Parts: sequence; structure tokens; C-alpha cells
Amino acid sequence: MRQLATTAVLIAAIGAATCGAAAAQDFPNRPITILVPFAAGGPTDTIARLTAQGMTKTLGQQVLVENATGAGGTIGSTRAARATPDGYTLLVHHVGLSTAATLYRKLPYDTKTAFAPIALLTDAPMTIIARPDFPANNLKELVAYAQREGEKVTYANAGLGAASHLCGMLFQTAIQKQLTTVPYKGNGPIMNDLLGKQIDLTCDQATNTTGPITAKQVKAYAITTKARLKSLPDLPTADEAGLQGFEVSVWHGIYAPKGTPPAVIARLVAAVKQALKDPLIVARLNDINTEPASDQQATPAALQAKLDAEVDRWAPIIRAAGQYAD
Ligand code: ASP
Repeated sequence: MRQLATTAVLIAAIGAATCGAAAAQDFPNRPITILVPFAAGGPTDTIARLTAQGMTKTLGQQVLVENATGAGGTIGSTRAARATPDGYTLLVHHVGLSTAATLYRKLPYDTKTAFAPIALLTDAPMTIIARPDFPANNLKELVAYAQREGEKVTYANAGLGAASHLCGMLFQTAIQKQLTTVPYKGNGPIMNDLLGKQIDLTCDQATNTTGPITAKQVKAYAITTKARLKSLPDLPTADEAGLQGFEVSVWHGIYAPKGTPPAVIARLVAAVKQALKDPLIVARLNDINTEPASDQQATPAALQAKLDAEVDRWAPIIRAAGQYAD
């Protein structure tokens, strides 16, 4: 009797494995959805849509983007972690996936193990910007103004755990003054309100801000990485302009849920690599000061290593700041 049962289990297991292998072989045979945990029109959305465009060409199936917003990106991440691991639901997220691991003391997934990483995608500096008629004209004036006016100054972020939250937290710690934080679902809507002069300040990836800065539609004070950007040569680094050691850069990655078959992951990795080499996509990324990942970086191993290292790097900083989202 026991032997019969064991045989049945074995047959079922072999059947499932064969089915999985077959499913992997004709992958993809229907559209793929990339979940973006922030609103349309923001930098994460832009990166995801460019990647999707390139992957569609290689995979011969539509790669669609769905904005699954809220709770600093954790709603989208949760949906991705719980999705069927068949390669048809993916996630594009940034550094916020690693900071949320500490900012949120209760998450329905374990950040380091819930995903099957596919590839690092991009890296971009952030920029500190204000509405076009904001009184301060450079970073020194901004710091003096914010220190004087404190909570009268409104700072928009894309929710607790967003990169803009992280940048704002570092800024307020650096100037030792609390501003009024206004949470949004992403930097797309924030940019609209900044241009409409409904909000004072934000910090956002150059991916989203290069256009409005160049067109002088917003005031720009600094970039948050060590070197100036070629296409915004007049914009100083925060460090140069007086905030010593102020540094944030935003990396993006693409993930599948844990348990996605290795053959499916391999197919997705190849499609992402191809997308990141597509001359049209590279040119677009260059225009918006966003570095595409190299072939060596666009791998599951590089993304897993980055995610693990960033979870470990931010944990003590967030714990020391004592700021939690829940
Ligand atoms: N840049 C945003 C952030 O602060 C999110 C986005 O809209 O892409 O994380």
C-alpha cells in the first residue's frame, strides 16, 4: 500500500516537473506583466516601460506595465512576491525594496528570499528640486530658508520607503530641521504638483527631472552623487554645495517571484540584457542621466548580491534614525 502511494507521488512529481519544463520551453506564450510599485510618469515607471519595450521586441510577446502603487512600494512588492512563479508577473523596483526591509517591521514577505532576481537595470543620481517660484536660488539659500521656515516648507515624497523619502530623511537630518512631509504614490504626480506650485520641494531621480531642469520649469539645487552630470554641468553636487558627504544613488532591478523555473529566468535575463543594449533605449537613458547596467551587472547573481548588501547597509542607518513606517 505504502509502495503504491510512494509510486503515485513519484509519478505526480515527474509529471509536474515535465509540465514545468514544457511550460518553460514555450515561454512566453502570452503577455507578461511588469508591476511597478509607483505611479505612472515617475522614474520607476519610465525605467520599467523602456525595459518592457525592449523585452517585447526580443520575446515576441507583449510586456505590459501595471502600476501597483501605495505604502512606499510595498503593495506592489507584496503582489509580486505572492504571484504565481511562472514568469508572467514581474516586478521593477529600486533601492526602496532594500530599505523597506527595515522601515517596515512587518512585511508579508522576506526581502532577501521572496524573489528570483533577474537583473540589475539602471543607476541614477537624485536631484534636489523646488517649484519654479520657490524663493531660494541655490543650495545654501535653500538650507537657510528651510532652517528658518521649518514646517512651513512642504516636502513631497513617494511614500515611506521611497527613494524620495530616503533623500528627504537624509536632507532633514543634514540640516537638522523638520519639514512638512507630503506623501504621494510616485514622482509622476509629485512633478505635476511641483510644476503647478502646489508643493515646495522634492528629491527625485534625474531620470524624471533632467527634462524639467533643462527647460527651467523647476529650480534645481544639487545632484546627490559624487560627480556632476555631463548634461547638467552647472548643477553642483550636494557635497560641493555645502552638504558634506550627502550621497544617494538609486539603482533599479527586475525580479520574478521565488520559484520561477530557471529556464524561464534565463529567457528573461537574455531579454533584459538585449533591452539594455538596444541603441534607442540606451540613447533615451543617456538623455535622462540614467546609467544602464552592464552585461556583468544585468544578471541574477549581481542583483541578489546588490539587494542583500543594500538591505544590510541601510538597516543600521534606519534603526539609528528610529524612523519606522509601521
Ligand atoms: N522616484 C520615486 C521614489 O521616490 C518613485 C517613482 O515614482 O518612481 O522612490
